[in-house]
Parts: sequence; structure tokens; C-alpha cells
Amino acid sequence: MNNECTIENCTKPVKARELCSMHHQRLMRHGDPLTIRPRRTKIVTNCKWINCTKSASTKGYCSKHYYIHRVTRTV
Ligand SMILES: [Zn+2]
Ligand SMILES: [Zn+2]
Repeated sequence: MNNECTIENCTKPVKARELCSMHHQRLMRHGDPLTIRPRRTKIVTNCKWINCTKSASTKGYCSKHYYIHRVTRTV
């Protein structure tokens, strides 16, 4: 009986459904044990508003400046 996770290159002990706890959690969360959320979202970019040091959340602006940008744009 194999008690290692069935995912390739994973040698962690099985927790449930022939998967280790990490891969089992992914299966539960994403419906696929191989799904990994891209880490790109972790890269923090600053708001492009002049003198604003907040991190950008939408289209290069922080939430406050994105709102101002939206309501004041003249195009
Ligand atoms: Zn695993
Ligand atoms: Zn801002």
C-alpha cells in the first residue's frame, strides 16, 4: 500500500483521497489538486497618482484615486 501523495513529485504522506493535506486542500478548494493560484497578485505596485504611496488595486490606482480618476476623467 502506497502511503505517499499520488501527485507527481510529491512525497508527502497521504491525508485523504490518496492526497497529502496540501493537495487535498487544493482539491477541496479548487476542484483540482494541481491548481495553484498565480503569485502575480502578490507584486505590489504603487498608485500612479502623484505623491500617493498607497498600493494600487485597480488599473494602477489605489481605490480612492481610482474612484477620483473615474469620476473626473474628461475623455
Ligand atoms: Zn501532495
Ligand atoms: Zn492613490
